[in-house]
Amino acid sequence: MGLWRGLRALPTWTVPVLCAAVLLLLPAFGLGFSATRQIQLACILALLVSGLNLSLGYAGELALGQAAMYAVGAYTAGLLSVAGHTDIVLQLAAAGLAVLAVGVLTGMVGLRLGSWSLAMTSFFLVLIVPDVLAVFDDRTGGRNGLSGILGPTLFGRPLGPTEVYLVIAVVLVAWFAVMRNIATSRHGVALRVLKQSPVLASSMGISVFRMKLLAYALGAIPAGLAGALFANLDLYVSPEAFGFVLATTILAAAILGGVTSVYGALAGAAIMQFGPNQSSRFQEYALVFTGAFLIIGGVLLRGGLAAPARRAVARLDRAAGIRPRPGAGAAEADVPRIRGTELVVDGVTKSFGGNRALDGVSFRAEPGRVTALIGPNGSGKTTLLNMVCGFYRTDSGRILLDGARLDGSAAHRVSRAGVARTFQTPGVPDGVTVLEAVAAGRYSADRVSVPSAVLRLPRFRRARRADVAEAERMLALVGMAELRDEPASSLPLGMRRLLEVARSLAASPGVLLLDEAASGLDEDEVGRLAELIRRIRRAGATVVLVEHNFRLVLDLADDIVVLAHGQVVAHGPPAEIETNPRVLAEYLGATEGVS
Ligand code: ADP
Ligand code: MG
Repeated sequence: MGLWRGLRALPTWTVPVLCAAVLLLLPAFGLGFSATRQIQLACILALLVSGLNLSLGYAGELALGQAAMYAVGAYTAGLLSVAGHTDIVLQLAAAGLAVLAVGVLTGMVGLRLGSWSLAMTSFFLVLIVPDVLAVFDDRTGGRNGLSGILGPTLFGRPLGPTEVYLVIAVVLVAWFAVMRNIATSRHGVALRVLKQSPVLASSMGISVFRMKLLAYALGAIPAGLAGALFANLDLYVSPEAFGFVLATTILAAAILGGVTSVYGALAGAAIMQFGPNQSSRFQEYALVFTGAFLIIGGVLLRGGLAAPARRAVARLDRAAGIRPRPGAGAAEADVPRIRGTELVVDGVTKSFGGNRALDGVSFRAEPGRVTALIGPNGSGKTTLLNMVCGFYRTDSGRILLDGARLDGSAAHRVSRAGVARTFQTPGVPDGVTVLEAVAAGRYSADRVSVPSAVLRLPRFRRARRADVAEAERMLALVGMAELRDEPASSLPLGMRRLLEVARSLAASPGVLLLDEAASGLDEDEVGRLAELIRRIRRAGATVVLVEHNFRLVLDLADDIVVLAHGQVVAHGPPAEIETNPRVLAEYLGATEGVS
């Protein structure tokens, strides 16, 4: 246990760096030809799998085109070599750029069409590889394959077998360093939010399209590099190497290793390479075997091998008495000053088919005030918030933020304009800590590019420090400081709601929309929430509160807007609403006993 505690006290990159060193030093131990080849092929497969993890595991987008990207990389390198450009760095760069271009182009098409179309588009890529190669068969050799590839060189010097091995190992290590830095950065968290719910992601200012395209196009890069490495390993490429069997092998290895993990790709690739690929019987029935692996991985091993590995680490931690770090003592934290913005809803109408959910709704929510939106179920409250957030288009009417038109803007733009919200059903991403989930609320408030996250530039480090400090402060505000390092998805409903409030507050939004924030909370949590809303109001934000708990509304609100059947039936301060006969009849009569 002492050993484990010592291990856990090391920086998280220690073990990967040690493994990388072993991989690079392996030739010094005098590996045989066949073992070396298997390791090299496993490295190449791991690169393919890792790229798939980025799009499938992190962005939640099934991209089946890794085998085609691999072909693009291999043929780019091979054709360059045949033309006399044998420098391996040049070939890797060219292959990387070529697949990035293919990734961006096919991704733009596939993602614009939505739903399953990226899976179809990318799968189609795999299908057309042999045909495209056949069309240009005078150059590519068509079905006979491309021969005449020259041995690789580096800065004019020919590379021997050991040096080729080293090049493959270095590319593998470099890519996994990149992948690890993306996965553990705010972009990695943003991708997991996106996988959980595109609606949630866009409400946090994340552009769903750009983020998915990023994951898909970036994921193509290791496949292109793998292709260039493969061409230089075999000095021969043919279309057969890039077909169905490979596509299913990649998918099986990804699922086996765990798609939402960085190093799972290594485990999955190693198993697929060293296990079934060995026997010639397998080669014959490869599709059946990989299919079986897919099912085993998908059904029995949810989360792949990465899941039991994480559980084992957690168990060892518990046994060794390693506790999550308690949160910083920010108990006296207060909501920082917020520049509230005025929200005006002016004659907004929205129909779903024949159902008129909103019918000429107008109201104004002002900075430093809590505007409550009440009404029976189905009266249009959530629809109204969705209109403000840009999830639906208005049929008629306007929505203005400090006088500027908001309606017609995409959801992520509304968020970036300073409108944050919580959802009736809280959205909590899988695989992130409570602190990360809250910090994700700052994704668009403080922009950091992917390259700067990959290279851990000062810009990235500064933003990360601010993310952590701000998220800790928000957690202290909602009384959840001690839960900082817990998995966010392990929280019960009440805590999830408070977590959402903390997250939406993390970006200091000018307008905060809370949808049924108190439902599912216990008495103590309702008290904490009420106090928090008062503080947010005092800090200067515009708060729109959708709430069923009438007493809480009377207690908190400065203005109350009562909706029924999509229309505003009453509007005024609590004292007026409380005694309004129409409200009593329409609303209180209907929900008595509920609140
Ligand atoms: P509330 O939040 O006040 O309970 P909602 O805004 O969720 O009410 O719903 C208002 C009406 O709009 C309901 O009749 C609901 O069925 C309808 N509605 C809401 N969203 C949609 C949608 N995406 N498609 C079709 N009908 C919808
Ligand atoms: Mg609702």
